[in-house]
Amino acid sequence: MIDLLLRGARVIDPANGVDRVADLGVDAGRIHSIGAEVKARRVIDLAGAIVAPGFIDMHVHCYEWVTNFGLPADAAGIHSGATTIVDQGSTGAWTLGGFKAFIADPAKTDVRAFTSINLAGALQGGMQGTTLHNPGMVDVPALLAIAAEHPRLVRGIKCHCESGSQSHWGIEVLLKAVEAGRAGDLPLYIHTGELFPVDEANRPQPNAVMAQIVPYLKPGDTLAHVYSCMPDGIMARHEEVPDWIFAAKEKGALFDLGHGINLAFDIARKMMAKGIYPDTLGSDVHADFGSYHDFSILNYSLLGGLNKLVALGMPLVEAIRALTATPARTLRDSSIGHLGVSARANITVLRDVPGSWTFTDTWKQELTVTSRLLPELVVMDGDPIIPDCMLLSDLMAPHERPRGITRSHDLPAGTRA
Ligand SMILES: [Zn+2]
Repeated sequence: MIDLLLRGARVIDPANGVDRVADLGVDAGRIHSIGAEVKARRVIDLAGAIVAPGFIDMHVHCYEWVTNFGLPADAAGIHSGATTIVDQGSTGAWTLGGFKAFIADPAKTDVRAFTSINLAGALQGGMQGTTLHNPGMVDVPALLAIAAEHPRLVRGIKCHCESGSQSHWGIEVLLKAVEAGRAGDLPLYIHTGELFPVDEANRPQPNAVMAQIVPYLKPGDTLAHVYSCMPDGIMARHEEVPDWIFAAKEKGALFDLGHGINLAFDIARKMMAKGIYPDTLGSDVHADFGSYHDFSILNYSLLGGLNKLVALGMPLVEAIRALTATPARTLRDSSIGHLGVSARANITVLRDVPGSWTFTDTWKQELTVTSRLLPELVVMDGDPIIPDCMLLSDLMAPHERPRGITRSHDLPAGTRA
């Protein structure tokens, strides 16, 4: 007799080449079996649903109250359909201890961090960029020491390649991150697109901001915001997909969706037409810059990103790979990202719900679909949880949230419909 049986769903596990209707058995917090005849203490009938390895969001901001744009970890994690979330750069060597004690350890969600190359982390979003992220705020030995002290939590380094930093100090800080990544054997996650205040006298030529990065990339480093509309972003203002992108892929670099506020559907279409798909589907979910604990303007999500990319033409199995197997490889954790026997029983369950829905991008371009993949259940270390979906405003109407939940565990009343 095992603990739990998820019965009759289409099981999609790209890491193991599985895509078939099967029963999935869970016992003692681990995957027990796929397709075996087993008796379970609890059976959940999921006929018509999709069962996938627990989704991994490579890009969230969840250092609530210390940064001015952090979300509650479980709201961004299990309650948004992700069983593992990776905070990108909210922490630095000075602030990681608090993140572990007050955010990562108490969360039900599996929370990891890419720690900022600067000592403090991104306390004030991009707004204090020149104060917080200047070369004087970098201490490579301190970063490597904290990463060595917390190897399960710190899985990489967050840094930036954008116009503001380059107008002030060139790529000096980026090169420090490259040095730290090589010395500590840690992957980099590199933000792209103007973020910090720009010294206009030294503004770099937008189409040239990114190409210079290629010589410094190592296999497994990630470039964020692949379909961003920012003038200095990955596609920038090039008419054709620039050669440096293919050179970066050739070197083993990965591209993250980094959905956020700058996603442009026409740039996505142009790049997909040349075979450039995101390797991972990070959401970049964060609260409003400038007022603590305000989620009212958040209008994109991990699962919204999944639905948008599938509608734009990314094959579903590849999109699920980008939410599971590939980010697990970046995190170098073989216990997550797949449904092989004895993997952690972290599972995301989706259901394709028919009905018209229109997504919009940064430029208010519309993308209308005839059905959506909505989260029905997550299983976290064997424990089934109905996600409250409070942060999925790009994907679901308030009345579509699971019945019985009127407000999230910790969202203040009145900030959401
Ligand atoms: Zn971000």
